[in-house]
Amino acid sequence: MPESEVCDTCGTATRRSSGYHLPTKHVVISEAYWRSAFQTVVGMARVLGRDERAQAGLFDRLITQSGSSDTPWLVCEECSEWFVFDRAAAREHARRGSVPEGSGAVDPAGFAPFAAAAWEHVIGRWPASVQQPTVGDTCDFCAKKIYRGELFGRISTEAAEAHLASGVLETPPLNPPRPDQQGWLSCWICMGRVQARAHRVQDGR
Ligand SMILES: [Zn+2]
Ligand SMILES: [Zn+2]
Repeated sequence: MPESEVCDTCGTATRRSSGYHLPTKHVVISEAYWRSAFQTVVGMARVLGRDERAQAGLFDRLITQSGSSDTPWLVCEECSEWFVFDRAAAREHARRGSVPEGSGAVDPAGFAPFAAAAWEHVIGRWPASVQQPTVGDTCDFCAKKIYRGELFGRISTEAAEAHLASGVLETPPLNPPRPDQQGWLSCWICMGRVQARAHRVQDGR
């Protein structure tokens, strides 16, 4: 397995020893990944926007394509901010070229709402082929709406203080802490970014 490769999510040159191996099922639940992927078709999607079915068809094709990848994704350090995962294990798999548990193709039905939220953000409209959930909450760090069924996490008051002191968090949460959470609610996009940056701080990078 060559040491020099390209990142499967951004296409830039990377090295296996500084990348991560992720199963498809971790990649396709990332709204941040989908936002980036859909940026490349935003022009085409806007043109098709007049034809809602054609636009949904493009969305369906793109998510089916990503979901059908049955080999692990090699993800560079920069793109790793889009995902929430066991970083040490994924690094080891990338280094050895081994296949993480749970790898294989994924049925788009299981992740379409995550991609649809990104489509709405980038293209400006929820895709017609996916049922739109109701909004359940709002991220305390970026104000993103969180749909019901969407992944989210919690950042405790102590953790947030430490992240602010170390620079992992650049700005304090937007709202007062939630008493029932002993901290703040965080969308999956913010969770991935905080996890990746905290890991770098820990590593002294
Ligand atoms: Zn990348
Ligand atoms: Zn957020």
